[in-house]
Amino acid sequence: MALRLYNTLSGQVEEFKPLVPNHVSIYTCGPTVYDYAHIGNYRTFVFQDILRRYLQYRGYQVRQVMNLTDVDDKIVRNARAAGLGLREYTEQYIQAFNVDRQLLNLQTPEVMVRATDQIDDMVKLIQTLQEKGYAYTSEGSVYFRVEKFADYGKLSKIDFSGNRAGARVDNDEYDKADARDFALWKAAKDGEPSWPTALGAGRPGWHIECSVMSMKYLGETFDIHSGGSDLIFPHHENEIAQSEAATGKLFVRYWLHAEHLMVNGQKMSKSLGNFFTLRDLIARGFKPTAIRYLLASVHFRSPLNFTFESLHQAQHSIERLRNFRYRLLNEKFPAGEKLELQTQARAAREAFEAALDDNLNTAAALGAIFDLVRDGNTAMDQGRFRDGDRAGFLDTLEHWDRIFAVLEDNDYEKLLEAGLCAPPVEDDWQIPRPVPDSPRQASYLPDPELVIVQPLGNGEIERRIAERDAARSSRNFARSDSIRAELLEAGVVLEDTKSGTRWKRK
Ligand SMILES: [Zn+2]
Repeated sequence: MALRLYNTLSGQVEEFKPLVPNHVSIYTCGPTVYDYAHIGNYRTFVFQDILRRYLQYRGYQVRQVMNLTDVDDKIVRNARAAGLGLREYTEQYIQAFNVDRQLLNLQTPEVMVRATDQIDDMVKLIQTLQEKGYAYTSEGSVYFRVEKFADYGKLSKIDFSGNRAGARVDNDEYDKADARDFALWKAAKDGEPSWPTALGAGRPGWHIECSVMSMKYLGETFDIHSGGSDLIFPHHENEIAQSEAATGKLFVRYWLHAEHLMVNGQKMSKSLGNFFTLRDLIARGFKPTAIRYLLASVHFRSPLNFTFESLHQAQHSIERLRNFRYRLLNEKFPAGEKLELQTQARAAREAFEAALDDNLNTAAALGAIFDLVRDGNTAMDQGRFRDGDRAGFLDTLEHWDRIFAVLEDNDYEKLLEAGLCAPPVEDDWQIPRPVPDSPRQASYLPDPELVIVQPLGNGEIERRIAERDAARSSRNFARSDSIRAELLEAGVVLEDTKSGTRWKRK
């Protein structure tokens, strides 16, 4: 089956056909680096990662470009308040973003660029728009003349024919001929960073950076542009206007937008106190892979309602998958194979691929793999599973995880490396303690309702069993009993057999 995607531009699900066979060019609006990115931002980034991984899975060679918006009104204001230069101020959040991406298993785009490293190219594009009559200057700033671009509104489908003067579409404080016009270049103001250019001293508007960086690295027409649905208007509409006015060509062939993330049914906002960064959730004891799983679990075109209950569920779902894989790798089964089980494993792979082909239906893809986990566990418990069935099941799991990327049990190691989790202390091995990296996060920890004990990873259980074996060999039975009791408390049951200690979760 062919891959089909919902294109915001056409308003329809379309078969995906790239411009160049077997290659896909993708532009992704990156973060504005004035603070830590929040989980609503990461919902979009996880969606884009699933998209990218699935395109690779289907054999496409992917070239993805992501910008880092490192100059805008908020950044200028915050950097000044912090007494830091723009570069210095934004660098800390770019680094934090890179750490977060690693924690969430987000693949690194082929090109990641800071906006302020592309000023010359932005000036050139603005000059082209001036030459073609699409731009005008007012008090040192340069604006895009929306009236001249007949296709304005084709992405957002907003009808501007009515109350135009009242439609305030941008937050610029400068004089504009038409309320819809937007700034391409903002004249320098006292005390603000600016660049001396042929347009005069100033700094670029936000929209122009994405037109410039996408076309520079992907060509004037490219395959996919993606972002959160809040960017459709005005940001993406303005990108189309600037790019197509300058080149006379179609800018983007497929526009993909991820829907909002809500918290307990409400919009996430600092004032409501329901605003979470990735680090806020880690500080509460959640694994980054559980957060990735939750963010990927809802279809990208449906709003995602974030709750702690659903995050808790996600953490258990991941444990379930990891345990099943552990059984496949380690449990002993009778020789032979069962055709029925082989068929199930193959059918599950076909089902999750069909779900992803269908406009990246991640929820259905998860459903397919959990059906397989249930059937496999049942077959094992009933003694029907055979040694020869292992490979087919593992193969399906491995293929599925190329896209979902949650099976590897290495959250703890990655958090340690990032300095977001305390190193293990002897006799305090059960709960890796998150290290708060801000006073706000530290304030979460005393809340017992919200501190969630991490289920033990398989690696941690194995280490613990080895320690118990050693204690038993040296006849330290008190120690071995206490390890058994601690594991039981953590939900792990031990069973001593002739061939060694087996374990399972309660
Ligand atoms: Zn953008």
